[in-house]
Amino acid sequence: MNSMNIAIIGSGLTGSLAAISLANAGCRVDLYERLTDEELINRDRTYAITHSSRKILEKNGIWSHLVSHLVPFQYLNVIDFELNKKFQFLIDDLRISDQKYSAVGWIAEHKNIMLSILEFISNIDNVNKIPTSVIPNTNNYDLVLAADGSNSTTKKKLKTPSFNFNYDQMCLTAKVLLRGVKSNEAFEILNSEGPFAVLPLGGDLFQIICSQSIVKGTYNMSLSKSLFLDYLSTILPYGIEPDTIIDKPVSFPINFVFNYTFFSGKYLYIGETAHKLHPAGGQGLNLCWRDVDCITKLVSIPFLRNNHYIIPFIYSISRIVDVLLISIFTDSLVRYSRSNINFFILPRTLIFFILKKSTFIRKLILSLMTNGV
Ligand SMILES: Cc1cc2nc3c(=O)[nH]c(=O)nc-3n(C[C@H](O)[C@H](O)[C@H](O)COP(=O)(O)OP(=O)(O)OC[C@H]3O[C@@H](n4cnc5c(N)ncnc54)[C@H](O)[C@@H]3O)c2cc1C
Repeated sequence: MNSMNIAIIGSGLTGSLAAISLANAGCRVDLYERLTDEELINRDRTYAITHSSRKILEKNGIWSHLVSHLVPFQYLNVIDFELNKKFQFLIDDLRISDQKYSAVGWIAEHKNIMLSILEFISNIDNVNKIPTSVIPNTNNYDLVLAADGSNSTTKKKLKTPSFNFNYDQMCLTAKVLLRGVKSNEAFEILNSEGPFAVLPLGGDLFQIICSQSIVKGTYNMSLSKSLFLDYLSTILPYGIEPDTIIDKPVSFPINFVFNYTFFSGKYLYIGETAHKLHPAGGQGLNLCWRDVDCITKLVSIPFLRNNHYIIPFIYSISRIVDVLLISIFTDSLVRYSRSNINFFILPRTLIFFILKKSTFIRKLILSLMTNGV
């Protein structure tokens, strides 16, 4: 089989995992990044990791290095705050093969996983890290993977069209000590301001990720820590009390990006270069890593490796359904959460009744969320 030469632009979590995965598949990889390792590591983000990501990390031999940095959760509580109704996703709702891991999912802090992945890359011979943002000569490569994020300059340069919009919302995140909640539970709370996630970080420490209108979010960001805690106590479910804020809350805007095509010539768009979702549902990074898995499977097929010019087209076709369905699912969650309870009380009550009673529907939704399409 030919050894392929691949350039990857961007060494975020998508580009870095792609470098490892493609090197494991026998490719020679040049990984271009404009930031230092320290800058890449020092980002304050928290991710929900699903079983699809666990499988990709296992395949690449990274899971055993990462698992000690992850916090597993056994219960995912979904709460309709306006209806005051709740149901749970449990380990029993997972596929049989996933149940033995005793976790519905895991929570990861960016610093830990980025550091482990960069250390892993430093031990791989056929990944060459190049600290620049300019590829001197793309003719040297069979494929170029653009993993340069949602503001991709590569995509702009190649004039690849995409469907974008800004949610009229911002996302507030903070680490908080909570009382009245177990360390193995995560929450997705659907309230009229927007979805609000509570993710376990070990012991009493939790990451809150709440989306709300720009006016309300800007006001809440200006509050003192004690007033912010008071505000949190009004949006947390009954019985859960915030004790202390560990760090200063941070905020970021929320937008949606969906490329009409995931390639241009020999350039492939992976990760947030190709799609960016609302953080509700915790699907973003998992979807990015499934792009990596797809491209790795394609370059591992001898026929495609020998005819690599068709890989970008096949990759684009292969990814469209998963990305589209997860995008629709995530956006629907946001619209459900923000829908006017007075008009939608009946459908919302019905949806919650079905989800609470039907194991089949719960399994179907959890399968979509945790394994993709
Ligand atoms: C502020 C913020 C907060 C977030 N919080 C969460 C969260 O709480 N939970 C969650 O699941 N997801 C979160 N996300 C999304 C999550 O970070 C991404 O899904 C994940 O990081 C994968 O992104 P990526 O590697 O595709 O892109 P990025 O992480 O954006 O990486 C792109 C990389 O490309 C590099 N680059 C750009 N241009 C060039 C160039 N020309 N040459 C070389 N390198 C280049 C950049 O320096 C960067 O390192 C957040 C995103 C942002 C922006």
